[in-house]
Amino acid sequence: MKKRKVFRLRYVLMIALGLFIAYNVSHALLTKETATGPSSGETAVTPSPSPVPTANEPEKKPEKSARPDPTPTPDPTRKPDPTPDPTATPDPTPTPQTTKAPQGGGTANTASPIYSISTKNKLVALTFDDGPDLHWTPQVLEVLSKYNAKATFFLVGRQVDKYPDMVKRIVDEGHAVGNHTWSHAQLPKLTPEQAREQMTSTDEALKKVLGKGTYLFRAPYGAVNDNVKAVAAQQGQLIIGWSIDTKDWAGSTPDQIMNNVKQHIHPGSIILQHSFGGKGGDLSNTVEATRRICEYLQAQGYQFVTVPELLAAK
Ligand SMILES: [Zn+2]
Repeated sequence: MKKRKVFRLRYVLMIALGLFIAYNVSHALLTKETATGPSSGETAVTPSPSPVPTANEPEKKPEKSARPDPTPTPDPTRKPDPTPDPTATPDPTPTPQTTKAPQGGGTANTASPIYSISTKNKLVALTFDDGPDLHWTPQVLEVLSKYNAKATFFLVGRQVDKYPDMVKRIVDEGHAVGNHTWSHAQLPKLTPEQAREQMTSTDEALKKVLGKGTYLFRAPYGAVNDNVKAVAAQQGQLIIGWSIDTKDWAGSTPDQIMNNVKQHIHPGSIILQHSFGGKGGDLSNTVEATRRICEYLQAQGYQFVTVPELLAAK
């Protein structure tokens, strides 16, 4: 009986020892896992969020870096830049520079009146100032027409405005027209701005009637000073004087006028008469003198031309 009891005891102890060992081993293993587990778990968690954003950022960054590439597409917008440059260069070159050049080198201070021209050809320019009107101007035109003589009429702007049809008739019959200010002003008494206004308003009136202005200008009373000359040059006006003053405006008789003409005539002469106004508003002597001048000078071999034609004969 004792042997069986000993055997049973040994068997129980061995199982107990085995269980003890198994427990310790397993316990030791468990404590190691719990000790390392959480620490490794935290580190695993922390990095995981950071990779997410970093993963997103790099994605966005490439997107941004891809966008700059498209933004360079505005590079095409830089190409247009050069294109406007060439177009801009030609624009300024033609207009301002060329127009300014003549004005600058212009005759601003050298525009002196032309009194006559030097020519060997027997050419003469008859000129009639202050018109148009509806009484004397037509009578002068009839005489000129009879002798097929061409003349130049220096017109007053306000008369042009009143009698546009007479202005048209003058031009239609082959005569030239010039600017004689708006109100027959004494230009040297005016400011340059006022003198300019006298010229430009008359030129506008002529443009309104004829579709174009004139570059021929005659100062009332022949009165000019440096300011008037400068303004005329700036306006592109040529100042036209005269070499023979018939003094018809003062009431000279046809005989007196003829004596004056015979004495002073030469090829290239410019003769001054009027087609409106005069002493007492009577220009009957002018009409008769014009008839005699045409008769006499044509017999002498002279040809009556307009001022532009005379200037062209220089
Ligand atoms: Zn006048």
